[in-house]
Formats: sequence, C-alpha cells, structure tokens
Amino acid sequence: TKYVYRFEEGNAGMKNLLGGKGANLAEMTNIGLPVPPGFIVTTEACKEFYLQGRRLPDGLMDEIREHIRLLEQKLGKVLGDEQNPLLVSVRSGAPVSMPGMMDTVLNLGLNDRTVEGLARSTGDERFALDCYRRFINMFGDVVMHVEHYQFESILQAQKDRRGVQHDHQLTAADWREVIARYKSLIETEIRRPFPQDPLEQLTMAVRAVFDSWYNDRAVVYRKIHRIPDDLGTAVNIQAMVFGNMGEDSGSGVAFTRNPSTGEREVYGEYLTNAQGEDVVGGIRTPKPIQELAADLPEVYRQFRDICELLDRHYRDMQDIEFTIERGRLYILQTRNGKRTAQAAIRIAVDMVDEGLISREEAVVRVEPEQLDHLLHRHIDPEAKLDVIATGLPASPGSAAGKAVFDADTAEKLAQEGEKVILVRNETTPDDIHGIVAAQGILTSRGGMTSHAAVVARGMGKPCVCGCEAIRIKGREPVFTVNDVTVRQGDLISIDGSTGRVILGAAPMLDPELSPEFQRLLEWADEIRTLEVRGNADTPADAAKAREFGAAGIGLCRTEHMFMGADRLPIVQQMILADDEDTRRAALEKLLPMQREDFYGILKAMDGLPVCIRLLDPPLHEFLPDIEELHVDITRLQFTAGDTPELREKEELLRKIRALSECNPMLGHRGCRLGITYPEVYAMQARAVFLATVDLLREGHHPVPEVEIPLVIDRNEFVFLKQQVDQAAAEVRAETGVEFEYTVGTMIELPRAALLADEIAREAEFFSFGTNDLTQTTLGFSRDDAEGKFLHRYLELKLLPDNPFAVLDRKGVGRLIAMGIELGRSTRPDLLVGICGEHGGEPRSIEFCHQVGMNYVSCSPYRVPIARLAAAQARV
Ligand code: ADP
Ligand code: MG
Ligand code: MG
Repeated sequence: TKYVYRFEEGNAGMKNLLGGKGANLAEMTNIGLPVPPGFIVTTEACKEFYLQGRRLPDGLMDEIREHIRLLEQKLGKVLGDEQNPLLVSVRSGAPVSMPGMMDTVLNLGLNDRTVEGLARSTGDERFALDCYRRFINMFGDVVMHVEHYQFESILQAQKDRRGVQHDHQLTAADWREVIARYKSLIETEIRRPFPQDPLEQLTMAVRAVFDSWYNDRAVVYRKIHRIPDDLGTAVNIQAMVFGNMGEDSGSGVAFTRNPSTGEREVYGEYLTNAQGEDVVGGIRTPKPIQELAADLPEVYRQFRDICELLDRHYRDMQDIEFTIERGRLYILQTRNGKRTAQAAIRIAVDMVDEGLISREEAVVRVEPEQLDHLLHRHIDPEAKLDVIATGLPASPGSAAGKAVFDADTAEKLAQEGEKVILVRNETTPDDIHGIVAAQGILTSRGGMTSHAAVVARGMGKPCVCGCEAIRIKGREPVFTVNDVTVRQGDLISIDGSTGRVILGAAPMLDPELSPEFQRLLEWADEIRTLEVRGNADTPADAAKAREFGAAGIGLCRTEHMFMGADRLPIVQQMILADDEDTRRAALEKLLPMQREDFYGILKAMDGLPVCIRLLDPPLHEFLPDIEELHVDITRLQFTAGDTPELREKEELLRKIRALSECNPMLGHRGCRLGITYPEVYAMQARAVFLATVDLLREGHHPVPEVEIPLVIDRNEFVFLKQQVDQAAAEVRAETGVEFEYTVGTMIELPRAALLADEIAREAEFFSFGTNDLTQTTLGFSRDDAEGKFLHRYLELKLLPDNPFAVLDRKGVGRLIAMGIELGRSTRPDLLVGICGEHGGEPRSIEFCHQVGMNYVSCSPYRVPIARLAAAQARV
C-alpha cells in the first residue's frame, strides 16, 4: 500500500485519508499558492500502526525516505547535510480539527553539525542557533516528553544571568550555552542523549504523532465531541520556511472575515522576526495584520489577495497561517474558521449576496444550536461585572433581580412587582410557582438535566445550576461565596449562557433578530415543509412566539393558569371539595378567569391555531406542602391548643394525604381527571368557547384546538370529546354565535400509539407528547433517571444520548412513526405535531420531518432554531 502522498497528489476532498491539514495543504499547492513543499503520511498508516500494536508499518520509513529525497532534489538541500541542510516540520493532522493532539515539531534535521551549516549557508549564526534551541525544546517536549517548563527555566536563568528581559537580546554565545544545557537536561531526564541522526529524529517524530492519537487529551476531546476513535491521524512533513530571519520576516494567523462579527475584512495578527508558534504562544504581543501594510506593503497586498482567493475558493471564511521569510510570503495552513453565531449568520448571508453560495447552503451553514444565545436577553458585553462564582450554563439568557430563597417569597415579591432570582440548593416540582415568578434560577446542586435546568429551559428562563461555590445557610435566606454574603433582597444577576453569577444588576441587552438573521430565517421558511409552533401559556409568551415566527401554539398548558395567587385558593377549594356542589361553586369562580386567559392567548395568536390542553398534572401539585403543614400544625398544637384553625389544618392534612399518590406520574392525572371530575374539563372547554365567541364578536379570528391529554384509547377519548362537544353546543345555543373548533389528543402513552388508528377515527389531531412518551416507553421517570443512573448509561454508551433531550429514534421514534401511520390510515388528513423538549432540538426535528409530521412545537425562544433546523432537515 501507498502510505505517503506528495502535496501535489492530494486535494481538499481527501480529508479522511490525508487529514484536514494535509488535504488543504495539497489543495493550496495545486491551486498555485506559495506553500512550502512537503508530503503526507496517511491516516491508513496510523491505523496500521495501531493494528500492529504500535509498530510503524513495514516499508513506511522507506517510503518516507524516498519522499525526503524528492524534497531534497526540489530544494537543493539535503537532510543531515553539513553544508546546506534540509529542515522540515512534522505536523499532526486528523480528519477533523482536533486540538489536544501532538504539537508540531519545527526545524527537524538540526544537530550539532548541521546547525553550523545552517549558520554558514544563511550567514546568520544567531538565527541558526535560535532554530536549534527551539528544535531541541520542541522535540524534547513533544517527542521525548520532558516537561516544557524545564526548558523554560533554563532559558529564564540565562536571561537572568545576562540581565536581559527578552529572547532577542540573547547572543549567539548565549544560545550555545542554552543548547548545551537543554541537551544535558534531556540526558538526565530520560537517560538518553538527544538524537543527532536526522532520520532517527524523523522516525521518532512520526511515531510520536501516531502515539498522540491516544493521549489523554485527545481521547477526552474525541469523547466530548463524539469523534470516532478509529479515524487516525495523518502526519505532515514539510520543508521549513523561516519567519525568524530578521525584520523582513515574520509569522501570523488571519481570518478572511471577522470571526466575531462576520464583517468582510481580513482580521488577524502577526509578529515580525518570529516562528509560527510565537504568535499563539503569547511570548510577545502580536500586531494587528493591518500594520503589515506599513511594514511590508508588497507582502500585505499579496496576502490580502490570497485571503480573498481562499475565501472564494473554499466558499467559506478561512483561518489561515502564514510565514514571511525575507520578504517572501508562504501559506502554511488554511481551514474553515470558527466563528460566533452572529458571524456565522452574517457570513452565510453575505456569501449568498456575493454569489458564492446558494440559499440552501447558507441555511445549512449555520448551526441551529448556536443561535440559542442570540435569542435571549444577554448581559451587555461591554459592561464591567463583579463575577462572584461560576456554575453550569443550564438555560441561556441573563436575568437580574433580588435574591430569594424559597418559592413562596419569590411569588409574593413578584406579585408586588419585584424582579427576583430564585436561589435554591436544588428545585423540586413544589417550587414551580416560584420558578414561574422568578426572572431566573440559581442552584448550588444538580447538573444540566436537573429539575431546575429542565424546567427553566422549558420556560425559556435563564438558569445557572450546580454552582457549588455558593453556600446556602440551612434555612436562613442567605448564601455566601468566598467572603461575599448575599442576603434575601440583595441584587444579583445570572448569565445562563456562561454560568456566571454576578453581584448587583448587570446591564442587559434585549435579543433582536438582526436583518441578516431575518433573511436567513426567511430562506429557511422557503425551504422547509415542517411548520413551527410555539409552546406558550400566557399571552406574552404567545406574542413572543409569534414575533419569532411561530405559526401557532402547539401546546398551551392550562395548569400554569391555576398557579397564580388569585387562582390557587379557588383551585384548592375545588380539589378539596367534598361534594359536587362545592366543586361546581369553585369552578364557577374559575370560569371567568380561564375565559380571560384563553381570550388573551387566542387574541395574541389571532388567525393562527392554538392547541389548548385540558388540565393534566396530578391534583396534589396544587395543594400546600405537606411538610410545612405538619410544622404549622405542631406549632398550633403547642401554642394555641385545640382551635378551629388547628382543626381546619388537620382536616386539610387528612385530605392531602388521601390525595397523595405512590407514583403520581402514572397516577390520577391527565384525562383521568376529566373522567373522574367531568365538570373540570367541562368548565375549561366552556371557557375556551366563551373566549372564542368574545373574540368573534370583536371581529377576530380565533382558531381553538382542544386537546385531551394522556389518553390510552378511543373509549376514553370519545367519553371526553362528548363533553367538549356538549360545552360547545351550549355556548352556541346561549350566544347564538357559530364557531369552529377541533378536538384532538396527545399521544404520550404507548397504548395510544398502538391504538392510534382507532383513536384517529375520533380525534382530529395528534400531538406527540414526547416527554411522557419517553418516560413511559423506556419506563424511566425523568426526575429519577437524570439524577441517578442515566449518566452511567451515557458513559457506557448503552444509550447514544439522553432520551429526554434527543428523541430516542430507535424506540420512541418507532412508536411515533407507527402512530402516525396508523392514525393516517383511518384519517388521511390527520394533523400531527410534537410538543415537549424534543420539538426544539435539531436532531429530533429532523426525525419529525422524516416521519411526516405537520409541525413541531417548542418554547418561543427556540422557534427560530426550529425554523432553521426544519429547513436543514429538508436540504
Ligand atoms: P497547529 O495545528 O497546532 O496549528 P501546526 O502544525 O499548524 O500546528 O503548526 C504550528 C506552527 O508552526 C504554526 O504557526 C505553523 O504555521 C508553523 N509551521 C508549521 N510548519 C511550518 C513550516 N514548514 N515552516 C514554518 N513554520 C511552520
Ligand atoms: Mg496550525
Ligand atoms: Mg404529558
């Protein structure tokens, strides 16, 4: 097999074989750019190396030697020659860009004799010695594994002895001393002399690159970025050019466009009289690339032309490394540059305008997840901040407010018009009203999938979790971090995109869709066939979803409407009612409130469908906390004795106990509430229709969809649909107003998916509630799984992803595909959507497109992400 390719033999399409760096060096060589000549050892050789238990494949070194000979002929220099030595760089290069692998070795080929030849042939002794000491340092570090700081301290000691500050103040004689010390350092450290034979140097370096494929940093990096272990790395061997040959030499890196704004301008830095690694190494402060125009105008012009050419050739923003040797420019690397979301959008849109890429390509260029932080309120990047701790960036966006330490206080202060940040060790479902009321959530425990994180993301609220540096003092409303104390009512800010916790109210900027962003989304809309709706429980959220381009509301949860302080006591009355009359009386009071709620949302979405889910959660979620009630009762027993208040509380406790369930997730909830308390659903349906009539009378166009949650089959559905239809008939009769509505169901239990054909005979739409469907299909309760065992599944790769974050295509997905097919077999025009976290997750959205859903629905702030992802699913 052929293991080695000359640059002339490759091209940009050969990344798997030649690695990214090599493939692009080949490409640039072939389009005539000034690239120092060289060759590439393929990733196949690396794979073979591992197959043979870390042995260089037979014949590999012969092939390399053959290619060295070709280089020698081309350049008129010879490896190891004492008059005119060839020097090369040895560079690793995986098929995907992978920091964390072996560092590059420059100036390979130098030894005690060739260094003198280099001095003579360049007429610059100091330069030659500078190259040699760099080489010993790099080789000693990355190939022989002597720690870099040891070389550093030898160099520092030399500067101290000379009383100088900078490397360039050292003389040739100094370098000779440093070199001698470097060599003896290596000998003492690894009991082996620094190798003098250039071929041995080369062999060791190639082996070191292969070895580095499995060093700890590389392995961890691949794991995090889901890069397969079996790709292997290539090795690039390339003739050296020297940026350290005086003031007409230099080295730098540049982007063809601004990587943070996307602006069309060459953006970069360089250093004169420096080798490549100096620029990134931070030894000296580099100069902005524009200054090259003054230093070396001819080179600058040439460089700008090359930037332009590469940008057009690759039709993407490039990140370029270059070196100038005595006024001659060389390009040493190009690759697609990393960029911020803002820059990604700007560049994609500009490139369409410049005729470089199509709209489809532009839409594919931007990573949907990356848009996330552009879509939230964020801290003014210019502001000076007092950051006191950093936790996990669990839900993006920023918030400022008074620190509060329990959900009730959060709700109380919020009702008084205060902005609050809820600070807890961790949150539970009992804190939900506090989370609703707070601007943001901060927890000291729990990971990215903790309750706080999941709920906050669902609501589009900023959240920093697992911030272990903050200590909440027992039950006292205080936390400390280092020597800072934050009390209830003190102002703090959190940045859910970076995890920062900030003292005081940080200045904020509102999210806005830039004109470029709008254009990109419009192109996405032209491409996609999947509709995007928003999940919203309030008119404000609905309006936000609409502003971001939602074509309707895919999930309006009515339970949040029950949580408000004015509602909760009535809701509790209703739940605790001993008889139907008491319950009806409470419902009578709730009716006008719900009517107003629905009026608001239907109005905000005028002309677009709003899918309203009837009451879903277990009732005890609306009742007081049992622990607190206990405390109250005990206190009353001690202080007041037997009073009516005490008796009332004891009675309450008894009822709450009676309502409490062993397994609420599978308990008395969803449409089971409608089965046992039909008057609750009847009230909700009536409120929807009354609101509809109100709006019609005002000339609006409400489009209500009534959704029945958690059904298991047709029987249940039919029973409940009749009540909805009855409520509609009553409202029509009472008001004399005709209106349209549809009734459908969530498919969130396996039995419903299995019996979807029967259900679809009656239901006009399906919405896959994939949060519950995932719980019930896997038999994992989300709150327990994420905290207790799921991480092990992911570590051991027993599951590819967290199924609550990325839809489990294999299992849950199969049920969905089946449910759609069965449903459409009895009702061909069945409307099908998805709600729940998956509806805003790009990979899950792709699946929804593939199985032929009509829409996905997600939190308002993810609507633009979903629009883009839906388009990408189609390209
Ligand atoms: P990385 O992948 O870490 O950027 P590189 O292999 O690109 O590593 O090289 C590190 C530095 O060495 C870069 O600045 C590069 O430009 C420089 N370099 C690599 N090969 C040569 C060469 N043949 N001549 C001069 N400088 C080189
Ligand atoms: Mg590089
Ligand atoms: Mg559900």
